[in-house]
Amino acid sequence: MSDPTGIGDSPEIAEIRSAVRQLCGRYGEDYWLALDRDRGYPTEFVRELTEAGFLTVLIPEAYGGAGLGVREAAVVMEEVCRSGAHAGACHAQMYVMGSVLRHGSEAQKKQYLPAIAAGELRLQSFGVTEPTTGTDTTSLKTVARRDGDVYRISGQKVWISRIEHSDLMVLLARTTPRDQVKKKTEGLSAFIVDVQAALGNGLTVRPIESMINHHSCELFFDDLEVPRENLLGEEGQGFKVILDGMNAERILIAAECVGDGLYFIDKASAYATGREVFGRPIGQNQGVQFPIARCYAEVQAAGLMVEKAARLFDAGVPCGAEANMAKMLASEASWHAGDVCMQTHGGFAFAKEYHIERKFRETRLYQIAPISTNLILSYIGEHVLKMPRSF
Ligand SMILES: Cc1cc2nc3c(=O)[nH]c(=O)nc-3n(C[C@H](O)[C@H](O)[C@H](O)COP(=O)(O)OP(=O)(O)OC[C@H]3O[C@@H](n4cnc5c(N)ncnc54)[C@H](O)[C@@H]3O)c2cc1C
Repeated sequence: MSDPTGIGDSPEIAEIRSAVRQLCGRYGEDYWLALDRDRGYPTEFVRELTEAGFLTVLIPEAYGGAGLGVREAAVVMEEVCRSGAHAGACHAQMYVMGSVLRHGSEAQKKQYLPAIAAGELRLQSFGVTEPTTGTDTTSLKTVARRDGDVYRISGQKVWISRIEHSDLMVLLARTTPRDQVKKKTEGLSAFIVDVQAALGNGLTVRPIESMINHHSCELFFDDLEVPRENLLGEEGQGFKVILDGMNAERILIAAECVGDGLYFIDKASAYATGREVFGRPIGQNQGVQFPIARCYAEVQAAGLMVEKAARLFDAGVPCGAEANMAKMLASEASWHAGDVCMQTHGGFAFAKEYHIERKFRETRLYQIAPISTNLILSYIGEHVLKMPRSF
């Protein structure tokens, strides 16, 4: 299949696309199938992706990274997903870094970024969601209390992914009670937590058994001490710190969905061409062929929105609406493509060795996390179309 998402590629982007494709090609789908079955972590894959510089493309050259933009990072994630890999194991390093890049002090950047770029430190974990408050982030209950040169953190988080495979976590906690701030987005602070030092010293991690191999955990904080110098950005302004990473996150997740969608379409069109029933390829029947063609059009359209959002982001122009729309359109397109791919494969879609059911489960996440479709629609309704705020 030709790859129209690559048509507008600059020579540099085409080179990245081809190099990522080659690297991913060394990790066949059976590698991902075994990890999914054993709930394993793709340590070698993540190491190779990091050593090749792909997970650190956003780190400026001055700190040892490639100094590229979200557009390039999106191509990396698209290709990872299109290869059949599960990007959930590694993608956070890309966007969590956005918060450190934009809000970290010079001392923090010097301390962490070169080591992350060199693969010596892993920044794969982002601690925001809580069990009792969910999407209503500003109501979160984890508190960080200032005590001399440290903050003492107590509370609980849920669904925090990759913490067991990360050295650092960016954590959001409340430093001023909600009833003592003018706006509910104030009084929250972001911290860089040294995960290895925290484990057993105020941080307890409990893995969650879940539908996909995402390494997500519950976290319990019991008077965890975090040095004052680990505050990321200003005290009380943590919501902004987190938000700045979120547009990049949405664009990158959307790019993953485009990759997933193309993966499903590759599989479905190949199977429809090769599988013969009633004496002819099933893809000769329009009832089989047209849904695949429609998915292709949907994924390509979503890909254009991803590209637009990435270009705006890289130009430093506000891109909240585009990042949200890209994420919504791409996650719906990949899910639709997954469903059509399942249908095209008939009963074999259920056999794990065909890999489709694994990708089908994995791509379903993105209509829920990192932000659900309803919340995106409410953003568009309120901020773009200026309709009344719904919550
Ligand atoms: C596998 C996995 C990995 C994750 N990894 C991380 C991570 O690394 N770090 C992290 O911080 N979080 C993580 N999350 C959490 C994820 O971001 C949240 O699950 C997501 O934001 C939705 O929050 P919730 O589950 O609490 O849903 P809720 O907030 O309880 O919402 C449930 C449903 O109700 C809808 N809803 C809620 N309020 C409204 C409203 N006002 N109007 C209309 N609809 C509404 C939502 O759209 C949603 O469909 C992960 C989740 C999963 C499943």
